[in-house]
Amino acid sequence: MKMKAVRKVKPAFGAELCEIDIPKIPDDWVLVKVKATSICGTDVHIYKWDEWSQKRIGEKRLPQTLGHEVAGEVVEVGKNVKRIKVGDYVSAETHIYDPKDLTSLLGIFHVGENMKILGVDCDGAFAEYFAIPEIVCWKNDKEIPPEFATVQEPLGNATYAVLGEDGDVCGKTMLITGDGPISLFAIGVAKVAGVAKIIHFGKYDFNMEIGKKMGADFQVWTNKTTREERIRIVKELTDGNGVDIALEMTGSEDSILDCFQLVRRGGRVTAFGIASVSPLPFGFDYNNGIVFKGCQIHGINGRKIFDTWYRVRNLLSSKKLDISPVITHLFSLEEFEKGFNAMLERPRKSAKVVLFPDKEELKKAKERLKL
Ligand code: ZN
Repeated sequence: MKMKAVRKVKPAFGAELCEIDIPKIPDDWVLVKVKATSICGTDVHIYKWDEWSQKRIGEKRLPQTLGHEVAGEVVEVGKNVKRIKVGDYVSAETHIYDPKDLTSLLGIFHVGENMKILGVDCDGAFAEYFAIPEIVCWKNDKEIPPEFATVQEPLGNATYAVLGEDGDVCGKTMLITGDGPISLFAIGVAKVAGVAKIIHFGKYDFNMEIGKKMGADFQVWTNKTTREERIRIVKELTDGNGVDIALEMTGSEDSILDCFQLVRRGGRVTAFGIASVSPLPFGFDYNNGIVFKGCQIHGINGRKIFDTWYRVRNLLSSKKLDISPVITHLFSLEEFEKGFNAMLERPRKSAKVVLFPDKEELKKAKERLKL
């Protein structure tokens, strides 16, 4: 049996729609029929075939199917699979952890040394079907439409970033930098989590508008202000103290410096954006930025398995969190190039782009979101 899949075939810009065999599953894996799959920044890196993807994936592993954000229905289970059943509506935790890693034994599955990532280290989900180990399958609530269920993975990043390890955010002030989808999701999560003042830094008007809809209380355009102005604005908004929590979600030099400067003494900086250059070559004040401030630094690599998923599913199924403003583009799987173009366009005029292998599913989603 054959299926359509969007694959990286050549070590160059772009991807191709291919006809390939439906995956055969090992005994502890499941086969999922894809209802919706969304484009992540990681897919854009691979699509562009930039330095990171050349190093991480490499020419030898091609061709490989892209994609890791997904929701679909289980159509087959391996003979050792117990928890997941045929007919279950699932998403994939993309960090395929190795149960033998020390981190797995300690219950922090998402940062394992031997972890593999779906669509990066193996074939992904931009296809009619994809295969995944049972251990990283998460059952969705059937009330959550596929265009929302597929983005639970990045929404999970946002949720984990906002809540940190202690979840102590209610009544606090928070700076959220960036206007990509995960920053926009984070604003929504911060709002429902009771953050008292959400300050949003970004630069693209289209996305800043979404940030406002998601609940940002104050917005600052980083391309129209200097660092001195941003410091003044944030200090004014926080009685001269700085924010309790700063989420760095862009990886840019400016934003990293902003966050460590604007977090108050004893506050928390969450590091999510991947710096384009690491180690940092620029003037980061380590002593005043971290040591003397007594600030906590929290790195985000994925979601807590499955604590974050549980919270995200409940927020969506209870409709306490509305993420619809962030879902800006819907296309069929065949139209993947349009999706990538929307993601690549600058100035940015898109947030989350969702693809549908089945045109009926696409039609229903368009009606639901009025897109
Ligand atoms: Zn992703």
